[in-house]
Amino acid sequence: MKRKTCIVIGGGITGLTTARQLFDSGFQVLVIDKGKGLGGRIASKKLSIRKAGEGTFDYGAQFFTVTNDIFRPKAHEWLAKGVVKFWAESFENKNPKLAVSNEPKYCGVTSMRDLSKALGTGLSIRTDTRVLSIERKNDRWNVFTDDHKEFFANYLVIATPLPEAMLIIKNSMLSIGNDLHHELSTIPYSQCISVMLGFMGETNVPEPGGIYLAGDPVAWITDHKKKGISPNANTVTIHASHHYSQANWEQPYDKLCNDLLVSSREYLPQDYIYWRIHKWRFSQPRRKFEKEFLQIPEHPFLYLAGDAFGGPTIEGAYVSGFLCGQDIIKAER
Ligand SMILES: Cc1cc2nc3c(=O)[nH]c(=O)nc-3n(C[C@H](O)[C@H](O)[C@H](O)COP(=O)(O)OP(=O)(O)OC[C@H]3O[C@@H](n4cnc5c(N)ncnc54)[C@H](O)[C@@H]3O)c2cc1C
Repeated sequence: MKRKTCIVIGGGITGLTTARQLFDSGFQVLVIDKGKGLGGRIASKKLSIRKAGEGTFDYGAQFFTVTNDIFRPKAHEWLAKGVVKFWAESFENKNPKLAVSNEPKYCGVTSMRDLSKALGTGLSIRTDTRVLSIERKNDRWNVFTDDHKEFFANYLVIATPLPEAMLIIKNSMLSIGNDLHHELSTIPYSQCISVMLGFMGETNVPEPGGIYLAGDPVAWITDHKKKGISPNANTVTIHASHHYSQANWEQPYDKLCNDLLVSSREYLPQDYIYWRIHKWRFSQPRRKFEKEFLQIPEHPFLYLAGDAFGGPTIEGAYVSGFLCGQDIIKAER
């Protein structure tokens, strides 16, 4: 019997979860991602910092919670296999407008990338490759990439942030109906500027290594040594608020670094030995679509999934990817 095939655009938690479901059910799956590595907004960096030694940073998502029954078995599996660990019950919160849950928070044992590595093991993956457009031809989906290649499969899942999915749809001149187009195009995303910093000395970030600041300009700080993932070097990530990030998006990087460091002076030494900025244009969706994933009615075998469908967290992304994968498996039975 011929194996069913699927291309998944986007190797974040959503896309990897769908790909994993399908691969484990016998599909031939290809994941295509424009990034250098997998994980998307789960992003980590390990590097040698002058005078300080090997340091690790998580500069996207910092932790995950486990509140959803669809995600719970996977989280338990990761805990049992030593992929993830418990990090904290709660963090100090200086932001009176922010309601923070007391759900246990977990993180990767060596970095958040451990999650995407665990999901991606054994899958066929093509990184550093941007999908430009798609086309339905001869009962299959053809996918055109920026390295002038063409891939095809029976099923196609777009698991990117929605604005990037809508760009692919637009470039492909696919009509999805005005109402749906409007609904999908108007889900807003927050922006986030992340600053990674290395210090010779310790920080004053309280144990267990995370704190929510007043909200503007700094939303959050992680001390990765206290988090337990950077034992040799004092590495820190600052996440700026959406408001600050949006207003200062085009500012020079040294200004961003300086602004955010000065605003964190109660917790961080002011003399750093390493710095780097990462800008998240689509950090988290600020509203959720009504369903956990979407099979586009006008276009057979074309799916959209992601945290704009499942909810703006790792759990939400997992649930969206899982249910999308299950729907495809069911359609094939
Ligand atoms: C700074 C920050 C902090 C966060 N903190 C937390 C947290 O502490 N806890 C939590 O639960 N969640 C947090 N989140 C949210 C969480 O990271 C996301 O909800 C989740 O990772 C989304 O996963 P995804 O797979 O849907 O999307 P993504 O991770 O964005 O994956 C989509 C992938 O698609 C790829 N892609 C896009 N366009 C194309 C294209 N044209 N061709 C090929 N590939 C393409 C991208 O490279 C990317 O890898 C945070 C997010 C950010 C940015």
